[in-house]
Amino acid sequence: MSGKNCFEILEKIFQPKKQEKIEDIKGYTIKYGHIMEKETVIDEVLVSYFKEPMSYTTENMCEINSHGGNIVMKNILELCLKYGAQLAEPGEFTKRAFLNGRIDLTQAESVIDVIHAKSEKEAQAGIKQLEGGLSEEISKIKQEILDVMVNIEVAIDYPEYDVEDVTNQEIMHMLDSVETKLEKLEKSFDNGKILKEGIKTAIIGKPNAGKSSLLNRILKEDRAIVTEFEGTTRDTIEEYININGIPLKLIDTAGIRNAKDAVEKIGIQKSKEIAKNADLIIAIFDASKQLSNEDKEILEIIKGKKVIILLNKIDLKQKLHKEDADFKEVTTSIMEISALNNIGIDEVYKEITKLFEINEINIDNDLVITNIRHKNLIHQARQSIQKTKNTIKEKMPIDIVAVYIKEILEELGNITGEFVTEDIINEIFSKFCLGK
Ligand code: GDP
Repeated sequence: MSGKNCFEILEKIFQPKKQEKIEDIKGYTIKYGHIMEKETVIDEVLVSYFKEPMSYTTENMCEINSHGGNIVMKNILELCLKYGAQLAEPGEFTKRAFLNGRIDLTQAESVIDVIHAKSEKEAQAGIKQLEGGLSEEISKIKQEILDVMVNIEVAIDYPEYDVEDVTNQEIMHMLDSVETKLEKLEKSFDNGKILKEGIKTAIIGKPNAGKSSLLNRILKEDRAIVTEFEGTTRDTIEEYININGIPLKLIDTAGIRNAKDAVEKIGIQKSKEIAKNADLIIAIFDASKQLSNEDKEILEIIKGKKVIILLNKIDLKQKLHKEDADFKEVTTSIMEISALNNIGIDEVYKEITKLFEINEINIDNDLVITNIRHKNLIHQARQSIQKTKNTIKEKMPIDIVAVYIKEILEELGNITGEFVTEDIINEIFSKFCLGK
């Protein structure tokens, strides 16, 4: 519970082993006792006390740690409600932390990112944002603009001093510098997107080429942690594997697994569909057989895409080679492997890392934007910079220039939540889960 009356409500339902006045209990302490409904013991619990402003929400807070289980939890919750507590909305605790000024909007948003992180690197990016990495960068940029803005205000308020020329130069210089920084941030979004959503990866190949063997081989590796996430539609399960900390989101693995059933193949049409939606295609061929027509159709499909060609079953007598023109026409990423005997699989991982320049995503030093809202605002700010530059080039009066510069400041302020509207705030926090 969080809020003004939370200790009052707590006192009505919690009987500590050692009775103390609430004023005498320090924040950051834990007390042992029982949750009681009249004479009945509901559960044996530990209660943590947080005193304002030193809490997650900056309000008085208490956390009841019960043994858990649906019935007991429900009873405790109902008791709290009975004595005046209100059920929190999704994300309400974090929202209060934001509204009370303990964290800014980017930090609040990163709470969801940390919770939903599917890979090590994504979690790190979230934590970095939670610690205020992005806010700091944005406020540095804003300061740079404000420093110049002061001179502009002087020029507007005291036109008799004729400082306009100097200021124009100064403004241009500042705008260039700010734009470079924003451009770098905006570009980092591509990497951020990979971290957040995973590289959409399709494994295609004709029946018996070795798709499911490869999949099983990858899944068996320690580093490949499969996480199942509910997809956008209720009945799709999205499967992620982790390669060197980067999530690959596998497309249609169910199709691969079930291919052995009634219909003994995933048709070419289906492969086309899958390939269309993929960031990365792993096309697998049976190297112990000559290229079939179906193989050739697959090569046709994957032309011009980001693709790794795997010639599988090299433990058998090899009829296909990575030097073959059929493959070299399509990509330089061709590898000979045996899914069954675990030959060449490590090289496949290395190739994926190389293709997406994953090693260049340096979470420790670079700020990575993972949130589309931030990206859009940064993009808008960059457009406003362009507009401002044009007004200067067109020799517009300085007060007009000032209006445009304020627009840039506003867009940047929206990122950290300075000027943001209530609708936007509500939308952001509605994505949270209860109790966060
Ligand atoms: P899919 O239809 O593309 O999913 O192919 P599977 O993975 O089911 O493999 C088809 C057959 O090829 C199975 O009997 C596998 O054991 C076999 N196979 C897969 N990879 C290899 C390999 O590297 N070497 C050999 N000798 N057989 C393999």
